[in-house]
Amino acid sequence: MLKFKDIRIGKNLSIRVKIWLFFMMLVCIVFILMWTFQVLLLGQFYEIMKVSSISRVTKNLAKTYQTEQIISDDLRDAAMQNDMCIEVLNAEGAEINYKCIFSGNCLLHNGSNDIYFYYMDLKQNAGKDIVRKLYNDTMQSEMLVYGCPLYDTNNEIKGYIITNSRLVPVESTRHILQNMTMTITVALAIAGVILSAYAAENLGTPIKRLNSSARRLALGDYTASFVGGGCAEVDDLADTLTYASHELSKTDEMQRDLIANVSHDMRTPLTMMKAYAEMIRDLSGDNPVKREQHLNVIIEETDRLSLLVNDMLDLSKLESGTQKLEYQTIDISEKLCEIASRYEGLSEKMGYHLIFTGDAPYMIHCDSGKIERVICNLLNNAINYTSKEDRTVILRQINRPDCVRIEISDRGDGIEEDKIKLIFDKYYRSENHKREVVGTGLGLSIVKAILKMHGYNYGVNSKLGEGSTFWFEANAAVPPVADDK
Ligand code: ADP
Repeated sequence: MLKFKDIRIGKNLSIRVKIWLFFMMLVCIVFILMWTFQVLLLGQFYEIMKVSSISRVTKNLAKTYQTEQIISDDLRDAAMQNDMCIEVLNAEGAEINYKCIFSGNCLLHNGSNDIYFYYMDLKQNAGKDIVRKLYNDTMQSEMLVYGCPLYDTNNEIKGYIITNSRLVPVESTRHILQNMTMTITVALAIAGVILSAYAAENLGTPIKRLNSSARRLALGDYTASFVGGGCAEVDDLADTLTYASHELSKTDEMQRDLIANVSHDMRTPLTMMKAYAEMIRDLSGDNPVKREQHLNVIIEETDRLSLLVNDMLDLSKLESGTQKLEYQTIDISEKLCEIASRYEGLSEKMGYHLIFTGDAPYMIHCDSGKIERVICNLLNNAINYTSKEDRTVILRQINRPDCVRIEISDRGDGIEEDKIKLIFDKYYRSENHKREVVGTGLGLSIVKAILKMHGYNYGVNSKLGEGSTFWFEANAAVPPVADDK
């Protein structure tokens, strides 16, 4: 129901008040229309309709008698059916035929001069119709007289038709309608109150419910549920809020994970560095071999820390958009050759075997340095995660009409299907690899950010026990427009 607190001064009206006002306005409009048309204007309406009906009947008769003979019975039927007296005169005003249903008390027949009077009226009107409203003392009623010329087939006036019908007093009808209008208005007002209360309840309550859940969400309570109801729009709003809540909770979770991961990843090398520094100070300071070993650990941990910090900085720059792409048109085949030869140089030392299968030169428009970073990140991963027995890594270039596909395959353990969608997430590192391989969990996030900035398609196909293939597709460079000058 409508409550006083729903009316808020200086603010938008609440939905309950609006619905209530809407229904009340509807009731008022219905009442005003009914009162105006059914009560106030009833007399005028009735008269207009009566004039139009008597004119229609009289003109129809005139049309009929233009070609047909006047038959008394037909004239009587027309008079009875339309509750009117009919008089047909010739061009000189002499009576040809007539029918009176008011026993000679009508305006046409209760005095000897009446017909002549209307005949003269019609003649003076030069062929136009006449409509007269007069009071009939004998019948104590208002009456309408309508007259129109009767033409022959040559369109010459051959006579006149004059009809007379009664205007029934509308006072009693007006009174009945007045009472009916009042009754209908009261019934409408009651129905309006009930319906508006129902509609307000149906719309207002779900919106209030959504509002209180949204407040809980704003305070960080992601368990708040958003239930719609009432109408499709409120259902949509509930769905959107549920989606927003879900996304916010994911972001919140990611943020917490991020802090946990970063602090964990940073704490480990820092702890190691502190421990080894203390060992050098307390134990191995005078032992050059041990000291060398411990110092190497500190250097490795420093490298790991700076790798992590650099990756974090690079990723945040890419994601925040502060690092823009520097586009240039390059031959990707040449770029791949160059990278492959660099990796082949290290393969003996690091114990992997790189196979490069290139294709014809292919021009792409990209940020060369960043695309190189993508390829190197993927190659490093393939080398790190390929099988210990078969340390083969394959780099492929596959030219297509509209793009070039770059594939990097390894023969490692592969990735579980449910983990594939996680590997491009920040700080994700498989449990199996955390211990074995030094990494930050940011390499693939950087790959994803760069490829997304370029608008390239990318993905991974992997089979457990067989290995993985990471790929991306770079669009062909638009051929330069020839300069005619
Ligand atoms: P990092 O390699 O530093 O851990 P990445 O973002 O490059 O971080 O990779 C995230 C995780 O994805 C890795 O820890 C690893 O578990 C998995 N992964 C990446 N590349 C491969 C691959 N070629 N084969 C199997 N797993 C991989």
